[in-house]
Amino acid sequence: MYHHYDAIIVGSGGAGLYAALEASQRAKTAVLSKLYPIRSHTGAAQGGISAALGNVEEDKPEWHAFDTIKGGDYLVDQQAAKILAEEAIQAVYDLENRGLPFNRTPAGRIDQRRFGGHTRNFGEGPVRRACYAADRTGHMILQTLYQQCIKNKVAFFDEFQVVDLILDGTTCKGLVAVELATGELHIFAAKAVLFATGGFGRIFKITSNAYANTGDGPAVCARRGIPLEDMEFYQFHPTGIMGLGILISEAVRGEGGILRNRDGERFMARYTPTLLDLAPRDIVARSIMTEVRAGKGIRGDRKIDDYVYLDATGLGKATLMSKLPDITSFCKTYLGIDPADSPIPVLPTAHYAMGGIPTDVHGRVVLDDKGTLVNGLYAAGECACVSVHGANRLGTNSLLDLVVFGRRAGRHIGDYVKQADPPQVPTSAADPARAWIGRLTDGQTGPHGGHIMEEMQTGMMEKVGIYRNAKEMQAAIDQVQALRRRYQSVRVQDRSKPFNTDLLELIELRNLLDLALITAVSALNRQESRGAHSREDFPGRDDTQWLKHTLAYLEGDKVRLDYKAVDTSIWPPKPRTY
Ligand SMILES: Cc1cc2nc3c(=O)[nH]c(=O)nc-3n(C[C@H](O)[C@H](O)[C@H](O)COP(=O)(O)OP(=O)(O)OC[C@H]3O[C@@H](n4cnc5c(N)ncnc54)[C@H](O)[C@@H]3O)c2cc1C
Repeated sequence: MYHHYDAIIVGSGGAGLYAALEASQRAKTAVLSKLYPIRSHTGAAQGGISAALGNVEEDKPEWHAFDTIKGGDYLVDQQAAKILAEEAIQAVYDLENRGLPFNRTPAGRIDQRRFGGHTRNFGEGPVRRACYAADRTGHMILQTLYQQCIKNKVAFFDEFQVVDLILDGTTCKGLVAVELATGELHIFAAKAVLFATGGFGRIFKITSNAYANTGDGPAVCARRGIPLEDMEFYQFHPTGIMGLGILISEAVRGEGGILRNRDGERFMARYTPTLLDLAPRDIVARSIMTEVRAGKGIRGDRKIDDYVYLDATGLGKATLMSKLPDITSFCKTYLGIDPADSPIPVLPTAHYAMGGIPTDVHGRVVLDDKGTLVNGLYAAGECACVSVHGANRLGTNSLLDLVVFGRRAGRHIGDYVKQADPPQVPTSAADPARAWIGRLTDGQTGPHGGHIMEEMQTGMMEKVGIYRNAKEMQAAIDQVQALRRRYQSVRVQDRSKPFNTDLLELIELRNLLDLALITAVSALNRQESRGAHSREDFPGRDDTQWLKHTLAYLEGDKVRLDYKAVDTSIWPPKPRTY
């Protein structure tokens, strides 16, 4: 099947839907999503979306931009962060006007709560900046935007999985996708394509991410010669449910929850005396692991799966029910405890990719350090790297990133398609995808994809996790390379056409393996500690050598590395203290 659109948006999370809403005003737009739209991971986002509204105490976009840059350990592109913080206010009011039911102050304004690393007056103390709808903020954003897209008659191709990108030199011409219901390949010719495929936490064993978060967009782009930026920076959220990785939102600490070790001590007071439990996530995650390694975890055995307590008993039942109802019910369902009465056993969980497809502030994909663009190719949301999160994202800045940069990309697409020629795409454009899927389904037998997945996830978790060193990262690279070779002989066990999840998972596994390799190679290369990238063998931040973005190009079995300058035009880098 062959389709023609001005613009194709891949992904129906917050970034994709906002882009679609904007682009569809001026361009014939379709959204492709491998999931039913409102099952996208944005719907799982709990805690909030930041904007310096100043509704409950004084706040300014300038402070928000500064916190974002400092929180990202100065690897943030500063003009992009300024845009994020300034456009946040309009973005939140737009969402409100479109129907999002935010929690309210008694005076009827949008209520705001604290989140890690958000401060008043350049670090003096915590500020209430996160706007929220109980602990279902992402769910509400997704529902609001989806309803608006339906109202505006955006075309949806639900349950279509994109497997290839059609490029002609440096011009994007469309996509190839599998229709899940039939197993058929479709070509979508388009003047503009935007990837908004979300994160790839599934390269790790313990993660807060949904099963579908397999990084398809970045992997498809990487295999077509597009670099991936800053992939070594992967955020571990401090508070996942022990053993499961299901997220306990930072909003619990924002509302007054406290981390405690086996002695009942509020240990964050030793690490970050000003912000305490609300320091940025990289610091809190490392502090937890330091406690565990010192035998101060709850079991006290110093093993990496020992845990600490998140104590929310001081919040009281009423606050938990009105502001954190989903978290309360997760604790009851998965742990059999009521957080009003018992502390929650937590440890860090793989959560968020700071790196991704490099873009400028209009969402246009950038190929190199000179700013060479790929005509008609865009990315937004977690799969993109603008870069506003640098080496470590602050909580609530991701939902904001989706809305601000999804909207900007959608607008730019609206302009771009007016002057772009309709692409001519031969049906042979689907041949590479057809050949690959043909091999997976050719009737031969091969190793099981599930084992490859498991080994990759365990290897990445143990060797490219919170603390890293050269020896272990090299071992992870060797292991992922061996798994990629084994992948060459995998085959499906189920050869039926409709809803063949066996096949779709093998397609996703290839994406994860490619991203695991790029992540590990980028991490081994960066010989310093910055933000979420913490090296035991290079403990200090090194601005002389490493104040630069990594660009990683996947070239067959190899990853070639290059660099891009960081925009530090507003605040010169300083050491981070909280
Ligand atoms: C549990 C949890 C809680 C969070 N809480 C917060 C929070 O409170 N505040 C905050 O700021 N951030 C939070 N985050 C982070 C934030 O929610 C995500 O970074 C963000 O929602 C990602 O949105 P997205 O639009 O980029 O992608 P997603 O919402 O992940 O959507 C991806 C879309 O891409 C589609 N897709 C993927 N691959 C393909 C393919 N091959 N073909 C077709 N379609 C494809 C999927 O169907 C889906 O529609 C949280 C994340 C998690 C996991």
